[in-house]
Amino acid sequence: MSATDVTPQGAPRGGVRPVLEVDDVKVHFGGVKAVDGITMQLLPGMIHGIIGPNGSGKSTLIGAITRLTRLTSGRLLFDGEEYQTAPASVVARKRVSRTFQTVRLLPDLTVRENIQLGADARSDDTTGSPISRLIGKRVSPAVAEAIERTELGGFEDFYPSELSYGTQRRVEIARAIATGPRLLLLDEPTAGMNQQERAEISALMRTLRSDGLCQLLVEHDVQMMIDTCDHVYAMNFGRLIAEGDPREVVRSPQVQEAYLGRKWRDHA
Ligand code: ADP
Ligand code: MG
Repeated sequence: MSATDVTPQGAPRGGVRPVLEVDDVKVHFGGVKAVDGITMQLLPGMIHGIIGPNGSGKSTLIGAITRLTRLTSGRLLFDGEEYQTAPASVVARKRVSRTFQTVRLLPDLTVRENIQLGADARSDDTTGSPISRLIGKRVSPAVAEAIERTELGGFEDFYPSELSYGTQRRVEIARAIATGPRLLLLDEPTAGMNQQERAEISALMRTLRSDGLCQLLVEHDVQMMIDTCDHVYAMNFGRLIAEGDPREVVRSPQVQEAYLGRKWRDHA
């Protein structure tokens, strides 16, 4: 198969069992076909990317995968098990974790407490239960690890409003990591970050990959996609127009054409 062809529906990639399978998923809002027949396979220990112009359905697809957005049709499988009708809470318990395109931290909680919310979502981690936190300010190992990995040491007692935008985004990523994810979905996590901060997020994702984590990154920064992703999907008008090696996808005529005449800040 050429790198920019769309994988035939259901075709396995490399004989590895996917963590997540998206099978012909559609999400229509009235007449708007936000996601219009997407098929993807996300493999363990791989960083997958989605590029596509604004409005091409990237965030809606992440909403569908996490079951926050209702599917019009299609199937979702996690570890080979269908879950397209399961509630979002069940999907979260499978440790499908995400960050949102806009920062969603609780303003009245500190950095540590915000990240603890992620750890609280794991059923097997009670070290940092609300009561133990009240009496002893104990921090669960998952929180400590997430803080270390995202280099948030020193910021633990700050409130979100006291942090730069880039640091707030890191706290969101830390909260997602603290859930002990099996699948991590990052929707434009570096929006508002400078080049150095982007490189740090890319490095963090690559470390998580070496631990075997399956990840999906939505980003406009082409260089970051090339530096970070193993496999990139390109979307336009709710459909896949290319997939494969990041460099080849970015250069493919389909992708070039999709972005033609559109504002794509980092498009080289
Ligand atoms: P992207 O993340 O690629 O920029 P989105 O998934 O946010 O794109 O949006 C895809 C399309 O779906 C857009 O046309 C958007 O206006 C539309 N859309 C998204 N969410 C809704 C909704 N809740 N109701 C109606 N239309 C929506
Ligand atoms: Mg979006």
